[in-house]
Amino acid sequence: MSDFSVSAIMLRRINYGDSDLIISFFTKERGKISVIAKAAKKSVKRFGGILELFSLLDLVCTKGKHRTRMAFLKEAVLKNPYESIRSDILKTAYAGFWAELTNTWLEEGVKQVQLFNLLEQVLNHLDKGPASPEILSILFQLRFSAIAGIVPNLSHCCRCGRSFDDIRQDRLEPDFRQGGVICLKCSAGSGLPVGYLSQGTLKQLQWLLRGDLDQAIRIRFAPYAMAQGKKFIERFILFHLGRNLKSYKFLNQIRS
Ligand SMILES: [Zn+2]
Repeated sequence: MSDFSVSAIMLRRINYGDSDLIISFFTKERGKISVIAKAAKKSVKRFGGILELFSLLDLVCTKGKHRTRMAFLKEAVLKNPYESIRSDILKTAYAGFWAELTNTWLEEGVKQVQLFNLLEQVLNHLDKGPASPEILSILFQLRFSAIAGIVPNLSHCCRCGRSFDDIRQDRLEPDFRQGGVICLKCSAGSGLPVGYLSQGTLKQLQWLLRGDLDQAIRIRFAPYAMAQGKKFIERFILFHLGRNLKSYKFLNQIRS
């Protein structure tokens, strides 16, 4: 049996038998891995109670005897517990949502360094402030969608292809199936879900998507633009993910 070391963010844990846990980690070196943490439930001493959702850890794991067997967690050292997130229920709900989104999309054993760095960056900002959780969440989801290959088209009508710069309209309709936003002419009578976006909001979303991260999170959104952007990207992501997330339901309960 051989050991390997990884830097990891904890995404999910489930009970396994009376005393063990199966934990899914997002590792920088190996993508998502699921490991068995023996006696983690029974003995707090074993891992010092540090195996918490979205914590940043250094791990040493031992490979199972067979190639297909799950690895065992041997050692875990806490690098960042994100204490300020944990002491705030809204921040905890956002971090939990990002973790579940990541866990749902990631395939086991596929390296995703760009996404790992993004998740670590937004967790750091959420923990330290002063960026608002809402802005960080919109930014995370936009950049997540780009990495996942489902990035929304925010500059052109998804149906007629016209650039929004050439359209003198301030109300643009989301069209999740087409992969973005459509102009009023194309949305006439389409019966699309209500919830328009203004040109200004689209520009701000593009900046959150492509701008320098440390500068992008300082953007000031008007309350209506924040509401539009938040609603759009959350519905867009969940539409393309094709399933509901428990953490999203929880987040909505906290926000309401
Ligand atoms: Zn159009």
